Amino acid sequence: MKTLLIIDVQNDFMPGGSLAVPDGDKIVPIINSIQHKFDLVVASQDWHPQDHVSFASNHEGKSNFDVIEIHGKPQTLWPNHCVQGTDGADFHANLDTQKWETIFRKGTDKDIDSYSAFYDNGHLKSTGLTGYLKEKGVSQLFLCGLAADICVYFSTYDAFKEGFACFFIEDASRPLDFEEFEKLKEKMTYLGIQIISSADI
Ligand SMILES: [Zn+2]
Repeated sequence: MKTLLIIDVQNDFMPGGSLAVPDGDKIVPIINSIQHKFDLVVASQDWHPQDHVSFASNHEGKSNFDVIEIHGKPQTLWPNHCVQGTDGADFHANLDTQKWETIFRKGTDKDIDSYSAFYDNGHLKSTGLTGYLKEKGVSQLFLCGLAADICVYFSTYDAFKEGFACFFIEDASRPLDFEEFEKLKEKMTYLGIQIISSADI
């Protein structure tokens, strides 16, 4: 079963949002144009409480994009974003959600961040996405969304580790850090994850 997993296409990651990804809005019409090609479409939504550990505002004396250590692992501190129930946490208004069967929320635990739609950053707790996809009989998983070098990458990496054949749709994703994304593309290709264009689907 051919499945599309759309990662975090939310207002705070759009131009003008609190954690804007350059040209993040450009992917919306592309994602809308490919959804009909899939048997199953699911999405993830970054969904943080106000007191979330990843927000610089919750750490006295720290600034946005500082890196601190949490549970022995580096954590980048972000501007407040995707706070539960706010407009910033909503999906882009033009994004077609009609075909979506369900939405997996992540980053809901205030004490740990969750870049991947499958696990938190410490791999301590699963969102249940692997079990859901396996029960549905998903074999090929296509991923896209924001940001390409962070949440889409970590979701793709986890999906690959969980045994899905993974396809990263490059033009339906946009990175926060272009140089970092170039390195990650090389790593994904090395692993056997296919980097494709929406025209290839
Ligand atoms: Zn977040």
